[in-house]
Amino acid sequence: MPQYKVAIVGAGPAGYFAAQALQNSQSDELQFSIDMVERLPTPWGLVRSGVAPDHPKIKTVSKVFEKIAAEPGFRLFANVELGSDLTIDQLKEKYDAVVIATGSAVGKKLGIAGEELPGSMSAATFVPWYNSHPDFKDHTIDLSCDTAVVIGAGNVAMDVARILALEPSELDPTDTADHAIDSFKASAVRNVVISARRGPEHAAFTSPELRDLPKLGHTNVIMNKSDISDAISRAGDEPAKDVKSNLDAMLLIAEKEATHHERTITFQFLATPIEIKGAGRVEEVVFQKTGSDEIFSIKCGLVITAIGYEATSLEGVPYEKGKVVNTDGRVHENVYVVGWAKRGPSGVIGTNKSDAADVMKLLVDDLTTPKSAGDITDVITHNRVVTQAHWQVINQAEVAAGEPLGKPRRKAVDREELLRLGRL
Ligand code: NAP
Repeated sequence: MPQYKVAIVGAGPAGYFAAQALQNSQSDELQFSIDMVERLPTPWGLVRSGVAPDHPKIKTVSKVFEKIAAEPGFRLFANVELGSDLTIDQLKEKYDAVVIATGSAVGKKLGIAGEELPGSMSAATFVPWYNSHPDFKDHTIDLSCDTAVVIGAGNVAMDVARILALEPSELDPTDTADHAIDSFKASAVRNVVISARRGPEHAAFTSPELRDLPKLGHTNVIMNKSDISDAISRAGDEPAKDVKSNLDAMLLIAEKEATHHERTITFQFLATPIEIKGAGRVEEVVFQKTGSDEIFSIKCGLVITAIGYEATSLEGVPYEKGKVVNTDGRVHENVYVVGWAKRGPSGVIGTNKSDAADVMKLLVDDLTTPKSAGDITDVITHNRVVTQAHWQVINQAEVAAGEPLGKPRRKAVDREELLRLGRL
């Protein structure tokens, strides 16, 4: 029975769904050994370090990942980095196919003056910081200002704004990093402005997320009714279904009776950021009213851009415009790409399932004679690989640590601490 070896680089949703598609395509004539390589000591990618902690339902997909990992022939090699521990060429030589599933972790830049000032950062820093990503644990986020501006009109901008404007004790029963909860409790931020460069009819928010906003128990959410009615007129009689659904949800927000909480999220539309100003740190953002000459500014001490992501480049893998160069997921030779590294940062977690399945069909079509060139264990020289068994110990320890605190888990935030929990 032909047994093929596939290496998947990246243990996020796209990587797991690629593994699942390969497992589903197995038959008496076709079997796979799947080795998943992950740079961090923990798997699950964005489900662990991206999804907002106050949206625990979205994280339940990790149960699916664990089922995939429990299938025969699947092995996890976490705490293993492509580049320093092994090269793409070694994987190409040893495996019948290599699947890149490394996502997009680098925040896009506005490219305007002042963007590098202290107090200005990307959601690509802020989100992993509050989600206990080990690479971001030492960032200090200064929340001593009254007003924060979040630039972008997508779900990441909404997550960032909500987390900044929640009553922080609402995060106590979540898996938010302790250091972030402490900072939010000491935070002076009371006004968060979400700023979109286009009108409400072009916003990239999705309607379930918009519909959740009025349910916030301790935060005012403000949209200007005329902004939304103008957008409804511009969208015409037959707007696309998702546009209509978004505008309906926004109208509900705009028409909701004002509440008088201490914390407020305000939506601002048709505002193109042109400069971030400040003497030594952020003091204001200057905007141009989109489509006009009108200039105005908002005084603030924190600016977070949530305007999309780009993939990080891996040596030996061609990159262009923030993505791996590919044709329908084929990169070159026996290398494939799935997920955000393939198509850019769009879609929800489930989008990666059909996307990965399509690419894995091509991979299966391309298979020839199985290789017998060894595997990753011939190459890795250190003995601190986090296998599935180690990860299960870490996972259980985190869940157990969270239990007495009423949290789904208490994440370890430090690489060494994670390795110690895994008894490595
Ligand atoms: P996104 O949905 O693509 O939104 C990016 C936003 O940034 C857009 O509003 C875009 O406006 C704006 N933008 C881009 N360049 C800009 C610039 N130079 N100046 C000002 N604004 C700019 O990206 P995302 O929010 O990072 O989300 C990525 C994906 O993850 C999305 O598919 C999202 O739905 C998904 N996600 C889902 C959830 C959830 O389901 N709860 C949570 C988080 C993320 P233009 O349209 O004008 O370009």
